[in-house]
Amino acid sequence: MTEKLILTDEQWRDRLTPQQYHVLREAGTERAFTGAYESLKADGIYLCAGCGNELFNSDSKYNSGSGWPSFTEPVAQDTVTAYEDSSHGMRRIEVRCARCDGHLGHVFPDGPGDNGLRYCINSASMEFEPR
Ligand code: FE
Repeated sequence: MTEKLILTDEQWRDRLTPQQYHVLREAGTERAFTGAYESLKADGIYLCAGCGNELFNSDSKYNSGSGWPSFTEPVAQDTVTAYEDSSHGMRRIEVRCARCDGHLGHVFPDGPGDNGLRYCINSASMEFEPR
């Protein structure tokens, strides 16, 4: 596991755009179908917009119809961390970047792959690097 990245709130505000800050540091959610990567099919890797940690490969991305980028699995099991989330009156599993603890989105048990998982991730939490 790579070393944790821990910054002050002021450093995060300097480093991130207001929307990135809202999603990553305040666990915000971009509106469905508005994110830059929602329908992107290009070959490459999705990095954490907060710290550059490698999160998802494009070959695990699929169109779930949800309005957010959807993946069947992260690049490695230890690249993201899952937390119970009972906010907004729902019981969900929150997914954060394991390196900077930035909020990415949630994981749901209705994915199309062998593991049955759907990682529902905000575009604003990621930077796409084409291959
Ligand atoms: Fe990160």
